[in-house]
Amino acid sequence: MPLTPDQQQTVATHLNTRGQAPKCPVCGASNLRVLPDLTEVSIDTGPDAVRHLVNVECKYCAHLLHFSARAIGVGPEAEPDAAETDGMDGQA
Ligand SMILES: [Zn+2]
Repeated sequence: MPLTPDQQQTVATHLNTRGQAPKCPVCGASNLRVLPDLTEVSIDTGPDAVRHLVNVECKYCAHLLHFSARAIGVGPEAEPDAAETDGMDGQA
């Protein structure tokens, strides 16, 4: 489930309003890009438990940073009225 351009902007605004301007921890560059695709990772609280991560890519060295989609308010967990109960990639 990719992020819409508006959701990508929400992530960028979130990062730009939290303390220092975001920089790549590897090379120090500040030209980061919010990617539209989320990463889904399994967590150990149940067989169907997943967490969605926002991917932010350094355009200079290509390092990927991950941020919690739920905490930023984008992605599946942030949309209670769109919650689906009939399995979302429960098989790994
Ligand atoms: Zn970098």
